[in-house]
Formats: sequence, C-alpha cells, structure tokens
Amino acid sequence: MISNELLPIHVAGEWRLGGGDAYESLYPATGEPIARLKAANLADVDEAIVRADLAFRTSGWAQKLPHERAAVLHRVAQLIRDEAEPLAQKQRLDNGKPINETRALVASAAGTFQFFAAALETLEETITPSRGPFVTMSVHEPMGVVAAITPWNSPIASEAQKLAPALAAGNAVIVKPAEVTPLMALELARICEAAGVPKGIVSVLPGKGSVIGDAITRHPLVKRVSFTGGTATGKHIAHIAADKMMPVSLELGGKSPTMVLEDADLDHAVNGVLYGIFSSSGESCIAGSRLFVARRIYDEFVTRVAEAAKALRVGDPASERTQMGPLITAKHRESIERYVELGVSEGGQIRTGGVRPHGEGLERGYFYAPTILEGLTNSARISQEEVFGPVLVAMPFDDEETLIAQANDSVYALAAGIWSRDFKRAWRLGRAVQAGTVWVNTYKQFSVSTPFGGWRDSGLGREKGREGIFQYMEQKSMYWGTNEQPLPWAN
Ligand code: NDP
Repeated sequence: MISNELLPIHVAGEWRLGGGDAYESLYPATGEPIARLKAANLADVDEAIVRADLAFRTSGWAQKLPHERAAVLHRVAQLIRDEAEPLAQKQRLDNGKPINETRALVASAAGTFQFFAAALETLEETITPSRGPFVTMSVHEPMGVVAAITPWNSPIASEAQKLAPALAAGNAVIVKPAEVTPLMALELARICEAAGVPKGIVSVLPGKGSVIGDAITRHPLVKRVSFTGGTATGKHIAHIAADKMMPVSLELGGKSPTMVLEDADLDHAVNGVLYGIFSSSGESCIAGSRLFVARRIYDEFVTRVAEAAKALRVGDPASERTQMGPLITAKHRESIERYVELGVSEGGQIRTGGVRPHGEGLERGYFYAPTILEGLTNSARISQEEVFGPVLVAMPFDDEETLIAQANDSVYALAAGIWSRDFKRAWRLGRAVQAGTVWVNTYKQFSVSTPFGGWRDSGLGREKGREGIFQYMEQKSMYWGTNEQPLPWAN
C-alpha cells in the first residue's frame, strides 16, 4: 500500500476526498491494495465542470500567448522527467505492467508534453486566397471545457496524449481515468499545478465510467470528449454527442492482422509478431492478434513463434527481466479464458499456452500464459472479436487476394503489420489493407508526431501529430474588408 490514508482527488483546483464510495486500487501482480480513495460523485462532476468553465473564462490560461502557454507545458515535461522513476514505479503498481514498459510510458508522456509545447509555439494560422476585396483567414479558438476519458492499459501515456494538446489549445480539461487505474492522472494533475497551470483548469475525477464518465459526457458545459476505450462505450458516447452536437474523438478496439510473406526476414518477423501480440500482455488496442502466414513457411514460422512464446519471461513486473506481467483484473483474465475455451469449441487447437502459469508467486496475481491457437478460420468468433489479452490466432494464406480479403474482413480497422523484403509487394498490401496505421517490417512503434486512430469500429478522429491541437479547437474564418466603397448592394 502506497499509503493507508484515503487519497484525495482533484476537483477544480482543490485536493479533497471525492464524494463517492471508497474503493481500493489493487496491484494486479499480487491482488494487494496499493491505494484507497473515494471516487468522485455527481456533485463533484458538476462542480468541477462549472468551475472549469469559470477558470477557462477568467484565469487567463486561454489568453496566454502561445509561447507563454508552451513554457508551462515544457515545465510539465521537465517535471515528469525529474520524477520519471517514482512515476514509473507507481504506474507499475497501478496496472501491473513490467517496469521497463512503464518507464517507456512515462518517457512518452514527457515527450508528448514537449511535442505539443513545441507544436503550439510554432503553430501557424492560414491566410486563404481571397476572392474579393477582403483578406480571408482561417483561425482556431479554444473550445472551453473538454473531457478526456481514458482506459486502464497505458494510463500516463494515454492521459498525456489528451491532456497535452487540450491544454496547449487553451482549454480547461476534465480527466476521467479508468476506475481501476486512477493514480497516474492524479499525478499529472499535481505536476500540471506545480508547473503553473492555473487552478481549476485541470480536474481529475476517478469513478465508475457508467456514472461519472456518462455525466461528464452529458454535461452541457463540456464541449468535446476525447475517449479511448472499448467500442461499445465509444458508440454510447457518440450517441450522447450526437444529441449535443458535440465533436468527439474515439480511439476504440482492434483485431489487427499481421501478415508474414514468404520472403520476410524470419528472425525479424518472429520477434515482431511476439512483440506485437504479447507485449503489454496483449492488453493493447493495436495488438497484432490475427497472424496470417504464407502457407509455404507456415509450419516453420509458427513453430518458431510458439517456441519463443513459451520462452517469454512471465512474472514479477518489478523485475527488469520480465517481458509479460499480469492481466489487469481477475475478471478480465476470466474473460480471456472464456475466449480461449470458445476458440477450442470452434475447432481451434492450442499450440502453446491456454493456462495460468505457475510458480514464483504467480498464483496470487492475474497471470496468463502467452497463447497461440491454430486450426481456425478468420470467421471464427475468436478471430473476429477483440480478446484484449495474450492470445494469437495463427492462420495460413495462399495468395495475396485472399490475404487482403481476410485481413480486411473485420469490423475493426485500427492497425496492420506486414513482414516482407519485397518493397513493391509490401507497398501494394500496405495500401490495400484497411487500417489507421500500417507497420512494414516493424510493429507497435509510435511517434507522437504521427497521427493515430482507427477506421470503422476502431474509432473516429485522430490524436497526435501537429494537427492534434486542432482537435481541441473550433475553426473560425475571418474576413477583413479592404474595400474603400460601401458594399455595392447597399448602394
Ligand atoms: P471501457 O470502454 O469500459 O472504459 C474506458 C473508459 O471509459 C474508462 O475510463 C471507463 O470508466 C469509461 N467508461 C465506461 N463506461 C462509460 C460511459 N458509459 N460513459 C463514459 N465513460 C465510460 O474500456 P476498458 O476500460 O475495458 O478498456 C479496454 C478497451 O479499450 C479495449 O476494448 C480496447 O481495445 C480499448 N482501447 C483502445 C485504445 C485505442 O487507442 N484505440 C487504447 C486502449 C484501449 P471505468 O473504468 O470506470 O469503467
């Protein structure tokens, strides 16, 4: 337990106990409580939003010149870096990811603030070609109060991904972290405060999504929601947004295909396929969970992937050697187990895994072995539905045409991987596959300067990239009359 005391939440610049129920945040590697806090209640939601609106209008945050607001965001980045190790350790306890991964997430959060500070400072508005006696400009204004609703799988990084551009744009931000991983958003609020973000501009409201997240989304003063999470929740939010005519961005689920062609560098491909599905215990929207391998090399390749999967070090997230930590909750592990049973009942054979690993205290945590299923078609439910765990479905393919048809046969279209030495073929497949991101001869690599998002049930809108700030702004066209005479019609 980090502390026995109830942790305060952050409501409109005040650190205080939430008005909702007390609950514990558990360490997924042992099931032990690491923090106790009282969730926000509906009164906290209303107060945070009303006072955020006031802070937006009166604190001067939105009126700061770009380089002034950027300076504050640069300080946020620096403070995250100054506290990188304690933050990474806390994030490890909060969601059970191996320490090497949480260190990378913390570094990425700092990089995100740095990037959006730089983007803000160098952002240019446009003068558009005029078609009359006037100068035309396209400019952008902050929206007011915006909300960030985040999932439990990569807390500090996904929160920074929304908070940094929303703050850069000059807004006030209400963050609703996942109920089971509240700690990193609270840390970011503390750091923003220390860096000089005015009181009330950032609030963090942990609590049940169906109550707190729903109330935030419906609140009339909330002008935009940026959501990352499951597709069902995303659609629910989109319905509410439609009624309010509110823009949303939705980063949702995936069932991403990885395609290994005959001419691939197999050492690289084995490594990339393993990383793509088993890093983060497969709890990743972009996990490469459907593997298509050219039939001629299928047996050799899947044997190599299965052997390497068996050898992955599953265990203590505190150890630098650990490659796979536990799953987030006992309930989530049960859902993954049900999916594997379903895959077997659909005719699949377990090539490796399909069990809870034993030994070295693993029984206490929510661990699950890296699992590979074979003998299934792409239309099996386990090939179509998002498992969100360390479960790979491997299938052979015979030709490019059926490969693309199968890769695209999914309600999701978030990401795809292609392993091939044939540049022209990889280009052809990369253009034909329907996905928000395509990795060729690499996988699950990210750059904050490159837009990210999905097609179809994988979401709406894009995060990251220089244009990411505009997601949190309203566009405005301005016409400056230059005519010396009155408008002709009035004459
Ligand atoms: P959920 O959709 O249940 O939760 C995501 C967030 O939404 C949480 O903060 C949750 O709160 C909140 N929430 C839940 N119900 C509502 C509601 N009615 N109104 C507003 N907010 C709500 O997803 P999971 O937490 O189960 O996360 C896993 C899912 O997220 C996977 O399907 C995965 O694919 C997807 N995901 C997508 C990513 C992407 O970038 N495309 C990245 C990461 C995950 P609470 O925790 O209290 O329920």
